[in-house]
Amino acid sequence: MSATDLFLCDSHVHTRFSADADTPLEKVCRQALLLGLRAVCITDHVSFWAGDRNFPPFDYRSFKRAIDRCRDRFGHRLTILMGVEVDYHSEHEAQIADYLADKPFDFVLGSLHYLNGRHLLTEECFSQFADLRTLMASYVEAVHEMVASELFDAIAHLDWIKRGWHQYVDPATADGCLLTYAAREVEDLLEAVRESNIALELNASGYRRNVGQPFPNREILVRYREAGGRLITVGSDAHRLPELAYAVAEALELALSVGFEEVTVYRERQPISIPIRAYEGDPLRDWAPAGRPQLEPL
Ligand SMILES: [Zn+2]
Ligand SMILES: [Zn+2]
Repeated sequence: MSATDLFLCDSHVHTRFSADADTPLEKVCRQALLLGLRAVCITDHVSFWAGDRNFPPFDYRSFKRAIDRCRDRFGHRLTILMGVEVDYHSEHEAQIADYLADKPFDFVLGSLHYLNGRHLLTEECFSQFADLRTLMASYVEAVHEMVASELFDAIAHLDWIKRGWHQYVDPATADGCLLTYAAREVEDLLEAVRESNIALELNASGYRRNVGQPFPNREILVRYREAGGRLITVGSDAHRLPELAYAVAEALELALSVGFEEVTVYRERQPISIPIRAYEGDPLRDWAPAGRPQLEPL
């Protein structure tokens, strides 16, 4: 099967509105059209914790204007969704809720990039615990807390900690580190994700990173499926233009191979499940929330 048989939407993309990216939104849209994407969801970083690399919060008003401009310009050929990737820090839950309350985001990704104030890709993060089991269990419990906050539509890059593991602990065992050390906590977390009816993100950026596989890995995806999980979003986590949609097709193939026949895309914070292949029409544009007339085309 070729990539064009798949419903291609990149649900995790950064632009110059993120502190760690510099691509103008217009370029992302043009590239998305060149790549044959049906939709793109822009998820720039927002954080309320001053110690965060993604702090200060981004310029929402300019971001919204850029989204509107691109919808005017490209919307007849490309669905442009307005998302955000929020850094979760439990002490800022109320602030996050307030921030999200009056903004028309389509999709809110919850991300954990820090553990006890230490970035997950630093050696300090790995040396702060007495043993590896405690480290991994603490990490999964922090993600669990993020799920319990009910602030988010999807959990971003669940086993992202394996990047640091690969670098600071052992490249050979990075793949299974989460399940090897914290299987029970992971099972509990996946159950909570399913019960909360939020989505698990399959983040393709790992294919281009040192770990060579998505976040989370295949085994966690299988367990999520077995736990009854059905909602998955797929994104490249592109921070540079050539990374747009990178390995999204591989991630979709992986999802199909473990039994997921649909990918979830959020619009107006409502999950829309779309057949990964053999979809008909334009599922995102044809969608209308229950009880409401069909939306005007973007
Ligand atoms: Zn992230
Ligand atoms: Zn990201």
